[in-house]
Amino acid sequence: MKPKGTSTTSVHAGEYLDEATGAATTPIFQTSTFRYPREGGEYLYSRIGNPTTTAVEEKIAALEGAEAGLAFSSGMAAITSALLALLKKGDHLIASNDLYGRTYTFLRHDLPRYGVDITYLGHEDFEDLETHLRDETAAVFLESPTNPLVHIIDLRRVARVARENGALALIDGTFASPANQRPLEHGFDLVLHSGSKYLNGHSDVIAGLVAGPSEHLGAVREVRTTMGGSLDPHAAYLLLRGMRTLAVRVARHNENGMAIASFLESHPQVERVYYPGLEGHPGHHLAADQMDGFGGMVSVEVEGSAEAVLDRFRLIKKAPSLGGVDSLASLPAQTSHMYLTPEERADLGIRDNLIRLSLGIEDSGDLEADLDQALQA
Ligand SMILES: *Cc1c(COP(=O)(O)O)cnc(C)c1O
Repeated sequence: MKPKGTSTTSVHAGEYLDEATGAATTPIFQTSTFRYPREGGEYLYSRIGNPTTTAVEEKIAALEGAEAGLAFSSGMAAITSALLALLKKGDHLIASNDLYGRTYTFLRHDLPRYGVDITYLGHEDFEDLETHLRDETAAVFLESPTNPLVHIIDLRRVARVARENGALALIDGTFASPANQRPLEHGFDLVLHSGSKYLNGHSDVIAGLVAGPSEHLGAVREVRTTMGGSLDPHAAYLLLRGMRTLAVRVARHNENGMAIASFLESHPQVERVYYPGLEGHPGHHLAADQMDGFGGMVSVEVEGSAEAVLDRFRLIKKAPSLGGVDSLASLPAQTSHMYLTPEERADLGIRDNLIRLSLGIEDSGDLEADLDQALQA
């Protein structure tokens, strides 16, 4: 049978079909512990594993085309557990300088205390990744598209160079979700997610996920069990419910992304639009090649005060985070990048008049009307 499509996989993969009751959906196994000994007893204690959580893990593995998946209590638990499991004292890590703020904090303040040396690269430096590799380079870690300027990095190239040099290629795939980008198909070893964004999709759960070969996930699972960043069964149930509609939601996010980016591009109060779906975006062709959709994240530089524009929104909410059914807007200079100095922000190209939009699944005409009235005033 040919591999199933993303929508079918979103709906069906990993679901626990309870034989005892015939329940048609995965139950919430709200239990901390399990009776033993049992024949084929897979579960013992919910920090180690739980059937509702396993359903999430099997679904993310199927969506990413991975051998296995792991679920965590947050995206940060997933990222920190994976890096602590796969790196050791004396290793060298090559990381993007354009990572999620807390990931950057972990790399800056925590990993060096465990004896890991880190080189930071800008998105364009990945084009000559070879020149930054050392004998001790154990892994390369990046995001693409990046936050908030949606830069695109050539995933096949990074994966190939990493592999040729015996380093693991790791990606935080949160911005694209597996509906738009499956990095393992391009040769990446591991994909990490904040499940709190597109995968859950309703701005109401904190969770994290990792997908990849069992060979590497065994070590990551051990760290999760020790450090305790396991996903609670109730949150797992909510995440599972969100993941079932991933493909249809993301299709609408993609449509709204394109519609709003085009609308803003010709708006007189807008100086510049960043969206990989636009022909003028430097990563457009690469994105078209390695992604199935351009996503719902659009960043825009406006004339005058960006803060005043945000305060005039009526439908779009002023809030950080992304990937939910509801459209959100934030100022990166005040949220994701507030801990950087103005000079560091300038180096990354993040200006004070930059607004980051996470477009939801509302009708695009209503979003245009809200943007228009907020920009006009
Ligand atoms: C939100 C986010 C994270 C952190 O995830 P949490 O679930 O909030 O811990 C990591 N990476 C990216 C790209 C994110 O957007």
